[in-house]
Amino acid sequence: MKKADIGLIGLAVMGQNLVLNMADNGYTVAVYNRTTQKMTDFIEGPAKGYDNIVGAETIEDFIAQLERPRRVMLMVKAGEVVDKFIETVLPHLEEGDIIIDGGNSHFPDSNRRTKELAEKGIHFIGTGVSGGEEGARRGPSIMPGGNEKAWPYVKPVFQAISAKTENGEACCDWVGNDGAGHYVKMVHNGIEYGDMQLITEAYQLLHEAIGMNYEEMHKVFADYNKGPLDSYLIEITRDILAFRDDAGEPLVEKILDTAGQKGTGKWTGISALDLGMPVTLIGESVFARCLSALKDERVAASKKIKGPDVTFSGDKDEFVKDLEQALLFAKIISYAQGFMLMKEAAKEYSWKLNYGAIALMWRGGCIIRSVFLGKIKEAFDKNPELSNLIMDDYFGDILQKAQNSLRKVVTAAVTLGIPVPTLSTALAFFDGYRSERLPANLLQAQRDYFGAHTYERTDKPRGEFFHTNWTGTG
Ligand code: NAP
Repeated sequence: MKKADIGLIGLAVMGQNLVLNMADNGYTVAVYNRTTQKMTDFIEGPAKGYDNIVGAETIEDFIAQLERPRRVMLMVKAGEVVDKFIETVLPHLEEGDIIIDGGNSHFPDSNRRTKELAEKGIHFIGTGVSGGEEGARRGPSIMPGGNEKAWPYVKPVFQAISAKTENGEACCDWVGNDGAGHYVKMVHNGIEYGDMQLITEAYQLLHEAIGMNYEEMHKVFADYNKGPLDSYLIEITRDILAFRDDAGEPLVEKILDTAGQKGTGKWTGISALDLGMPVTLIGESVFARCLSALKDERVAASKKIKGPDVTFSGDKDEFVKDLEQALLFAKIISYAQGFMLMKEAAKEYSWKLNYGAIALMWRGGCIIRSVFLGKIKEAFDKNPELSNLIMDDYFGDILQKAQNSLRKVVTAAVTLGIPVPTLSTALAFFDGYRSERLPANLLQAQRDYFGAHTYERTDKPRGEFFHTNWTGTG
């Protein structure tokens, strides 16, 4: 029998669906799972009828099935489990063989693994895979990085199974060295946090500010999805708002309002702080989840502390239109911040990132897929050296035009006492970024006052530092 083109370890939801996707694309795949029963259940269940999916009960048998150079893909729980499997397969591999980690690994781990495995002659790829179960089965967004020597051997498989744009372009390309693929996947997830939080703020405003019911909100999101906000997350929100439980009532209304998280948004925020990049919208969206999790404290506070006693007095149809523009505005700011972060990371870690290609990879298959990403790709295609998305004519024009809508929406929210952390931080960032002068002069004076941290002067050359004895004593 023909040897397998690729082997996959880890037959949970992602692994199983990726294997079926690879098999549908004509590849022969060997599969292994720690718990053998799950492997046999898969072979006898979803993989039944596929003669190009081969189960292995031992690592030795699994490796023996593979064509050289061997391609071993791990789709297991991120963290120590990945290192454990690398240790397990390593003694059975030879120089030039390839290990691919497709889980949600933290990029410093992928930096380390690429280096350690290169020293042993093994090529490592750390790749982001987005799109959940359905994406894995029908075409995910794939963001590979690591050791570029491995890429020619993996590229045909990955580009065959990945999502495609309407022009047939694969939503998968080489991202960069070491942990670059997992870094870009991390930022993708951070942006996903931001997009989701923005939508929840819009939902709360529609419901509580202008008193819309679920049927009306469903229609608003259906309309939003026909315009520039057209995206997977708006689409599923539209459907969620229409979904009724067995009692015929909106199910979402009965879901406990405490959000979970697995850490990739937090990692994005930590990296932004480490690199000194103001990625405020993702930061606020992580904190919004943290605040939501303080349910008991919020319940207690809600009984004791009251907000303003005001009702909305504007035009509701106008508000719905302004809200659409506000969401678009904030989304541009969030993506601009995400790309600022990737640019800084590329500098810090010496990665050569292709920003247009990243926008293309996110264009289809993944959770943040949208029409909007096509515009980001166009902006970077037009000017690969673009300093910031905000400076692109297309996005800059939208921000100019939409800013008043966002100001109106944030004003209404503040007046009514409805929290809009991501909508308002988008506006604060915009107003800060476009300010020639910020009050950091006073901040520098304070730092110099209490800590002799020195300051530069506007009337002297940059790089000359001054200290003042502010109290005139000592
Ligand atoms: P998962 O629940 O993250 O991991 C399950 C797999 O890991 C199983 O094969 C399991 O083997 C194995 N495993 C867990 N602990 C182990 C241990 N101590 N030793 C050996 N094997 C162990 O599976 P998943 O949801 O399919 O995700 C796989 C990877 O893709 C993860 O890194 C995840 O973060 C990432 N990812 C997931 C999604 C998604 O939508 N689920 C989307 C994108 C990326 P057993 O069967 O023996 O327990």
